[in-house]
Formats: sequence, C-alpha cells, structure tokens
Amino acid sequence: MQTYTYNPKSLKAEEFIHDGEIQDTLAYAEANKNNIELIDEIIAKAKLRKGLSHREASVLLACENQEKIQEVFDLAQQIKKDFYGNRIVMFAPLYLSDYCVNGCVYCPYHFQNKNITRKKLTQEEIKKEVIALQDMGHKRLALEAGEDPVNNPIEYIVESIKTIYGIKHKNGAIRRVNVNIAATTVENYKKLKDAEIGTYILFQETYHKESYLKLHPTGPKHDYAYHTEAHDRAMQAGIDDVGFGVLFGLELYKYEFAALLMHAEHMEAVFGVGPHTISVPRIKHADDIDPNTFDNSISDDVFAKICACIRVAVPYTGMIVSTRESPEVREKVIKLGVSQLSGGSRTSVGGYCEEERPRDTEQFDVSDQRTLDEVVNWLMKSGHIPSFCTACYREGRTGDRFMSLCKNGQIHNCCHPNALMTLKEYLEDYASKETKEIGEKLIEEEINNIPKEKVREIVRERLIKIANGERDFRF
Ligand code: SF4
Ligand code: SF4
Repeated sequence: MQTYTYNPKSLKAEEFIHDGEIQDTLAYAEANKNNIELIDEIIAKAKLRKGLSHREASVLLACENQEKIQEVFDLAQQIKKDFYGNRIVMFAPLYLSDYCVNGCVYCPYHFQNKNITRKKLTQEEIKKEVIALQDMGHKRLALEAGEDPVNNPIEYIVESIKTIYGIKHKNGAIRRVNVNIAATTVENYKKLKDAEIGTYILFQETYHKESYLKLHPTGPKHDYAYHTEAHDRAMQAGIDDVGFGVLFGLELYKYEFAALLMHAEHMEAVFGVGPHTISVPRIKHADDIDPNTFDNSISDDVFAKICACIRVAVPYTGMIVSTRESPEVREKVIKLGVSQLSGGSRTSVGGYCEEERPRDTEQFDVSDQRTLDEVVNWLMKSGHIPSFCTACYREGRTGDRFMSLCKNGQIHNCCHPNALMTLKEYLEDYASKETKEIGEKLIEEEINNIPKEKVREIVRERLIKIANGERDFRF
C-alpha cells in the first residue's frame, strides 16, 4: 500500500488532502472541544480577520459550549458586515445538458437512470433560455452540464458560452458566465479561459477517498486524484478564480469541513490565492434519489454552524447558497456570511422557457421556489441589497489582484456603489411596482453609506443616467 505524507504544497491529491492529517485534526478538535482557553485564543485570532487554519477552525466547529458558539456566530455576522456589507450577489444556474456518463449515486443524471428524459439544448434553445433569464433580470449565470465527451464536448460548452455572451435583448446582458462542468485537462481549461468564463466551479462532493470511490462507482469521475487536482489544472491554465464545494450529507461533515479548508490552504500555498467561492449544498430529493439513504445528513443548526465557521476561517472567500435551501434557512445563513444566492432558479434542462416548473430533467428539488422579483423584494425588506454586479472580472480584478484588493479593504469601495447601480438597472427594467418602490427608497438610504463623497456624487449622476436609459456603469 502506498503511503502519503501531508504536504499542502504537493500537487498530489492524497498529499494535500491527507487522510491522516484530517483524522489527526478531528481527534485534536474532539480533544479540545471544551478547552475554553484554546477556543478563546482561536476566536481572538479569528477577530484579526486573517483567517484560521483547518485545525483551529475544526476546534470551533467541534465546540459544544453554547456561549462560545454564540461568539463564533456573532463574529461571523460581524465579518460578513465588514467584508460584504449587506449586499447579496444574485445569480442563476443554466442547465445545458443532462447527458452524463458518470455513475454518481446521489445525482439523478447518473447514466443508469432510465426514468429521466435526456436533453441537450441547441444554440437556438440556449438563446431562448438566456432571453428568459435576462427578462427576469439576471446578469450572472452558472452553466451546468453533465460529463459526456460525445454529447457535451468542450467545443459545445465553449460555443454555448459565446452564444450566451452574444445575446443582447432589450436592456439585458449576461455579463459573467461561471462554469460548473466536470474535471478536465489543462488544454480544455485554456479553452474555457479563452471563452472568458468567470469562475470555474467544481464540487468535490466528498473529500473522503473511500466514500468518494463508492459514491462514484463508474465513469471518469471515479478517479479521485484527477477530480481533486482539477482546480490546480484550471489555475495552471490561467483561470484565476475557482470555486469549491462539498455535498453535505454524503460523509461526516467534520471530515469534509477540515478537508475543504486544507484544500483552500493548498491553493494558497501553491498559487498564492485561495478559492474565490465556497458552495455549501446539502443533498436533496430528486428523481431516483432519496436523501434518507444517505445517513450523514445535517440539521439546519449544524448547517448554520458550518457556514459561520467557514466565514471566520476564510473571510475573503465568497460563500454561495442555492435554492436547495428553503427561504427560512437562506435568511438565517445570509446573516452568517453567505454572499451569493441564486434566485428564480430552474434546475432542469430548458426549464426557464416553460410556464410551469418542469420536473422531467430536474437535478434536485428546489426548496426556494420564489421568483427572482420575490427574492429581491424579500432581501430588501430584510435589510439586504441585492446586487447584480459583475464588475471585478470585467475590470480584470481576478485571482490575486482581487484578493489583494479584498485584503486591504478597498473592494468595499467598489462593491457598494456597484450594487446600488446594478440594483437600479434591475428596478428600471424588471421589477414589479412594489419591488421598485422599496428599491428606490433603499438606494436613497444606502447612497449615504458610500464613504467617499466624490464616489457618492458619481453614483448619483449615474443613477440619473440609468433612469434615462443608459446601462452598464461600474467601478
Ligand atoms: S453529479 Fe455531475 S457527473 Fe455526477 S451524475 Fe450528476 S451530472 Fe453527472
Ligand atoms: S465589485 Fe467585484 S467583488 Fe464586489 S460585487 Fe462586484 S464583482 Fe463582486
């Protein structure tokens, strides 16, 4: 049997996601979960807002002392306020194809599922979907497709991205296309880079190798190392922004949490920049999938604790929650550090053009079934600014440039005015009457929270221009 040594700088999956190190971390966290002195030290370090190691953060996650857990929650809320203000960036998934050659046992697209309708959008159908998304008000998409070299080759993905960026319908435009497709080669990642994608997102699903192999019994995804090293290849190909995620419920959450942070530390160690985003999906019901068959499901309270601990451990990394979660859970976790939400999502191939939510190709049941307007309205009523901003990537603020702006606090000066200007565009073009009224009032109030007077003035001028029909201003 091959033995591996823990090494965050290694390019070998089994060395940077080292099972022995994770087991030691879990034992250390368990042994110290009531060590108040140590927990206080870790919280004090987290207050410096420079992040925590996977060991430190694992102690906080294991902690059972209610008072200390509350301190972590309070700190997560404060860090969220300091780094992300009250803004929430909006996006929607776009499913291109549910053809897939893999056998992932938790996903209805697995190739053995004969119940599901197999569909792949043509470029004409993509146009219709994108127009429907633009008419809702979306500016930022996450492309989803199963892995199938015959039906969904990289050329198809690249062509689809070009189609999406090329659609100009009324005042709409998709300004950032993030891509969530299977692990691939450096050469193919270069093609995605050339197609000007935003973030390359790939979920690990589970970091636990033995479980991973069982949950992915067949297909190219069965290769644990190839999958786990995919973000490295994407970075080598020049994609600056990569997104992580685990599917909570497949394995023990404490294991996944420690490994997720070790993965982030690996990116820092090798590329000098951590992941751009972390997604925290939980397993949900779908055709052929019963979440109860996975015995590691987590409660809403544990889910909130995970979100809070991620927030204090990696303050600069965006956190994404999808419509897998109910409105109630989303409300709870956005306070604790979530910075991006999907809204009005359809998780089926071609779903946006249908009047009724189609179920025949749905990847998972959507818990939050509200329209984008309802989500925007709800966010504003609960004191948040829905943002349709895509400025950074279009201004070349990616990878370490983005992170250094974050780390010296300057990003704040871009996000807030951009949120207000893109919200204004949304209100002008897509909002219902009530949402528009709430939004106009909110923008008026929030302009005063822009620290620099000069920027405030520019924003006021631009808001008038937007009301007069001009679009796409950004800092
Ligand atoms: S999770 Fe992805 S790779 Fe696995 S079956 Fe579903 S679409 Fe295919
Ligand atoms: S300015 Fe950059 S970091 Fe801020 S919301 Fe826009 S794209 Fe995101």
